[in-house]
Amino acid sequence: MLQKILKILEENGIKELRPPQKKVLEKGLLDKKKNFLISIPTASGKTLIGEITLLNHILEDRNKKGLFIVPLKALASEKYEEFKKKYEKYGIKVALSIGDYDEEENLEGYNIIITTAEKLDSLIRHKVKWIKDVSVVVIDEIHLIGDVERGGTLEVLITKLKSKYNVQIVGLSATIGNPEELARWLEAELVVDDWRPVKLKKGVGYKDKILFIGEDGEVVEEYPLKIYNNSRRSELFNLVVDCVLDGGSVLIFCNSKKSAVNESRKLDLKKYLSREELKELKRIKEEILSIFDKPTEICKTLAECVGRGVAFHHAGLTYEHRRIVEGAFRRRIIKVICCTPTLSMGVNVPCRRAIVKDLKRYWKGKTVPIPKMEILQCIGRAGRPNLDPYGEGIIYVNERMNVKDVKDYLVGPVESIYSKLSYPRILRSHILSLIALEDVKDRESLENFIRSTLYAHQYGNISKILEDIEEIIRFLEFSRFISVDYGDGRYRVKMLTLDGNGISIRGDKDKEKYKITPLGRRISELYIDPLSGKVIIGELKKLNKKLRMNEKTGYLGNWDLLDYSTFYILYLISKTSEMLPLPWIRSCEENFFFYEAVRRDIDIDDIESLKYIKNAMILYDWINEVPEDELLEKYNIEPGILRYKVEQAKWLVYATGELYKILNIKNRVISQALEGLKIRIEYGASKELIDLLKIKHIGRTRARKLYNAGIKNIQDIVDNYQKVRSILGDKIAKKILQELMSSDVITE
Ligand code: ADP
Repeated sequence: MLQKILKILEENGIKELRPPQKKVLEKGLLDKKKNFLISIPTASGKTLIGEITLLNHILEDRNKKGLFIVPLKALASEKYEEFKKKYEKYGIKVALSIGDYDEEENLEGYNIIITTAEKLDSLIRHKVKWIKDVSVVVIDEIHLIGDVERGGTLEVLITKLKSKYNVQIVGLSATIGNPEELARWLEAELVVDDWRPVKLKKGVGYKDKILFIGEDGEVVEEYPLKIYNNSRRSELFNLVVDCVLDGGSVLIFCNSKKSAVNESRKLDLKKYLSREELKELKRIKEEILSIFDKPTEICKTLAECVGRGVAFHHAGLTYEHRRIVEGAFRRRIIKVICCTPTLSMGVNVPCRRAIVKDLKRYWKGKTVPIPKMEILQCIGRAGRPNLDPYGEGIIYVNERMNVKDVKDYLVGPVESIYSKLSYPRILRSHILSLIALEDVKDRESLENFIRSTLYAHQYGNISKILEDIEEIIRFLEFSRFISVDYGDGRYRVKMLTLDGNGISIRGDKDKEKYKITPLGRRISELYIDPLSGKVIIGELKKLNKKLRMNEKTGYLGNWDLLDYSTFYILYLISKTSEMLPLPWIRSCEENFFFYEAVRRDIDIDDIESLKYIKNAMILYDWINEVPEDELLEKYNIEPGILRYKVEQAKWLVYATGELYKILNIKNRVISQALEGLKIRIEYGASKELIDLLKIKHIGRTRARKLYNAGIKNIQDIVDNYQKVRSILGDKIAKKILQELMSSDVITE
């Protein structure tokens, strides 16, 4: 089998395996019963180890499936394109599964499925049949099990894979402090290696010199920097120009999006670039400006920086802009990217010199140190194979920093990772799902499951987390998402009673049995936080009551009831945990009149709720076609954040619609408001455009143009094709017509 695999790799340009890759093979990677934890530096070739594992299973039995789990959707798409190109010619079918959480997707006939932990979890919640054919699961960036927000899901998933499914698990990890502990839990062979394709020199950078240090922390080389002139006053200018003039490229890691933008605005490399380079930069600049009908402020700033050979890259940029920046950087046209550390986790953009500018960042209102593991991932990006003799990972030091602290980041052990299973939002969601899937039926199976988690493996004592779970179970019970049998064979929701001391009394908890209710099952499938489910249900009932009351008293006055309900739905989804973080309110006076009007009718009386209203207003403006740049400015948010909000809102509105169906409320106005709201949010368009938006190749702008010209639906398009041509141009009109001919009209 090894020869067969090597041949395929060779045909794809891999002439020889790298030392860590050879090492894992020697340790028995091809033994399908053996789990692995592989901890090697960034960019040393972990993905290929995953590919070898997948090929080993699939080449032997084409009915088998392998899963490749990555942390981000963007990364999944990247790997999908790569694997498809490499392996489809051998008859291996590759699929990408990153769609909506309520979609089962037909993945029956595929061999390699690339997905995220959350999506896989949602597929399992939908009880997809093909899961029994999975024989191997590769988990990229498995150290994210220690991530507060997302680690819990990965942990539950792995616990299930280990106990319920007979699969080989291969975890790929960056350098961590406690790989042995993680490997023991995974029951995996551990392979640790510090081999890198390009040597990494680590150093401390100042304005005028770099001190390179050895593994013992001692200075091994002092490298003086020439002083270059920069009118924009960037402290990092000399460090940057020195590298660029030597044919290198630079990544600068900043602690916030704002800082990344500021840093790139401060750099101007124009005088050091050739005429051809400037010409190409101008072309890229124009490409950036042309992506959307009207460039946003951030887009203009990006274009302006790119014209000077520099870019920024962070979650506030749209996907399209990030792709352009990454591509131009790989081609060495853009010389410098100022970015947030998210860039270090994923897309392959190596550089010569990686500079870390900040060692601390703001997190939930506090300044906290950035983990050493993350800093090392950032500087590990340095060294482009076949281009650089070595990479340079540099921490920049300003006057406010302590040099000793800085050195500690470069040498010595890395932090250990710890289970984040106890994070309430995630734990809540998984307890519900475990009950829905009958993995947990009673107290005993609940405790057994918890005992097999990384949490139990690390902390031993599980009484604290069981206490938290107990509270969750009560919450799920009182929300009617589960029912409980207290030992007498009857499942029901039982109210707690209090004894004289205010302590709650109930039956013998060891005898408890749990069962999912239809509502609970749907919430689990919809993949929303049960607490959000409760909020949505509660608010839908409230809205219904308000509308009913209005029928009698007319207290909603001037509101158009459909508008009111639409706004209320956007307000209620803004109250869910999935919508966090909410936009910051500059001043309560802002849009005072609107707030006042809404406040009266929506019953809010605290500052927290104003945030929900503001979030709802953003979405409300969006679906009423307020131009994007106007909207961004009005609410002081970035395009990437707007996209994120829209994405979340789309999902939550869908979930709200699904829960509304189960609740059987039957209110004509609410039904009308919900109808088509998902598609309106997706495109940011008014109700009147919905029919047009359902047609492929027609988005917000095109639909508006057609509608204003009197073309309002499919029939109108067919009847007035010449007019459509003159409005949208020949090419697009043709595409649309073809789409309609094949009657492949998207229905919601
Ligand atoms: P990691 O996942 O460890 O961060 P990647 O798997 O993305 O790193 O590998 C970095 C680069 O090295 C990729 O472009 C990959 O194609 C290349 N690579 C991996 N293994 C080999 C090999 N044996 N020979 C040549 N190139 C390799």
